[in-house]
Amino acid sequence: MTIAQQISNSNHQVPDIAAAARGLYIDGEWRQSRSGQQIDVIDPSTGRVLTSVPDATIDDARRSIDAAAAAAPAWRATPPRRRSEILRRCFELMLERSEMLASLISMENGKALRDARGEVAYAAEFFRWNAEEAVRITGEFGIAPSGTNRIIVDYQPIGICLLITPWNFPAAMATRKIAPALAAGCTVILKPASETPLTAYALAAIYEEAGVPKGVVNVLTTTTPGPMTEVVLADPRVRKLSFTGSTDVGRQLLAEAAKHVISCSMELGGNAPFLVFDDADLDAALEGAMIAKMRNAGEACTAANRFYVQSGIYDQFAEGLTKRMVALKVGAGVEADTECGPMITRKAVEKISRLVEDSKAKGARVLCGGDATTGDGFFYPPTVLADVSDDSEMKAGEIFGPVAPLYRFESEHEAIERANDTEYGLAAYVYTRDIARGLRVSSGIEAGMIALNRGLVSDPAAPFGGVKQSGLGREGGQHHGIAEFMEAKYIATSF
Ligand code: NAP
Repeated sequence: MTIAQQISNSNHQVPDIAAAARGLYIDGEWRQSRSGQQIDVIDPSTGRVLTSVPDATIDDARRSIDAAAAAAPAWRATPPRRRSEILRRCFELMLERSEMLASLISMENGKALRDARGEVAYAAEFFRWNAEEAVRITGEFGIAPSGTNRIIVDYQPIGICLLITPWNFPAAMATRKIAPALAAGCTVILKPASETPLTAYALAAIYEEAGVPKGVVNVLTTTTPGPMTEVVLADPRVRKLSFTGSTDVGRQLLAEAAKHVISCSMELGGNAPFLVFDDADLDAALEGAMIAKMRNAGEACTAANRFYVQSGIYDQFAEGLTKRMVALKVGAGVEADTECGPMITRKAVEKISRLVEDSKAKGARVLCGGDATTGDGFFYPPTVLADVSDDSEMKAGEIFGPVAPLYRFESEHEAIERANDTEYGLAAYVYTRDIARGLRVSSGIEAGMIALNRGLVSDPAAPFGGVKQSGLGREGGQHHGIAEFMEAKYIATSF
């Protein structure tokens, strides 16, 4: 049975919001913040407060480092097979609780339940994959070229890791870091996004039940991530920063980490081009476009942000995409038939509106949508814009919403040049029936990941990450994900 089938067969489980908001998770205990302050968690579908979680102080962060340090020797000495079994149990428990987790994600993030279910399946898979990888961490042994000594390379856990995650995939961005870190033998402190802390805390309860020892995973939420990160990175026991979020914040964190020469993995913003050549299978391209654009209502780092369509197929593609976008059911994330949920905040809606207004002023034609919805939730309608100008603001950065801008191109060379005309390089999509051209274009595009005749690229078994301003390092993949949490130790010996 596939994971998706297991999830759809599971019983509906209503999330216990009070349990998810019971406190910071430090040293295996649920604690209140030393400040006594709380952070409100808002339901983006209604704009109303769902609950609140503790706002951790610097002291709470120090307690987390102490807990992670105390747990580290035993965890790194735990046999890989045992670590693997615990990770496998995390995977199983996530599947057993998948409906509860999906509902919780929908409530605090707003995404449609079907997207939330997909996220839970993807997030759980990082535990299964890394349970399998935990027992396959091998070293190297060889003879030095001089013949005078042997070279032994041992891979050791890097140490305590600070993990910082965004709101758009509250489960998957956490498990994509926690699972390989634990498989490698590291202990961690997770700081989830303030908008979506409940999923991170609900997952912490699952880790505990799966047998993750106290102190190995610590989770805390704060409204002062900058000062807290400075303190955590300044502690010499902390050796790794793994961050997923915007490029702007990533740059600040790299500068902070540089002061202490901390190893960094950075999963940052994207500006994915989606190329459709004249010879593409139109239906497949449209289906892929809907996934690449509308999964998570456009709030994904891999979301198609610029549609480059060759002249011969441009009008048909525009018409087909508009038809599909208009047909989407917009609504509260938790409603069963919702296909496009709200944006994360009102500020996000305002940003999208500003980008759309800017492109309209520069000559774009609105084929559907194009005006923010009024009301309590943070909604923006599915929108298609044709003939968007290259000097539109939305071409330069992330839209992060349900807006598909179309640009026309003539030649393969032009398509590659325009696809690369961005500081980002995370994902790209290419549709053509000519496989040689598909591979040539994939090779020419500056991005860490290419989806060739596909609308979805993420897979825990493949290395995920970007080039240029989209990041440093890789998550997932056969050895890439775990390698980010290990140091190579070389031992020279003569015999
Ligand atoms: P963000 O504003 O950069 O925040 C990400 C995380 O960093 C949050 O936990 C945030 O905490 C924290 N943070 C903010 N300022 C900080 C500081 N000065 N020091 C330490 N931590 C700080 O990004 P976002 O709006 O949550 O997420 C959307 C962005 O993430 C997009 O750019 C998207 O492309 C990117 N993303 C990338 C990937 C990838 O794999 N490449 C995946 C998903 C998302 P608070 O919530 O408390 O502010």
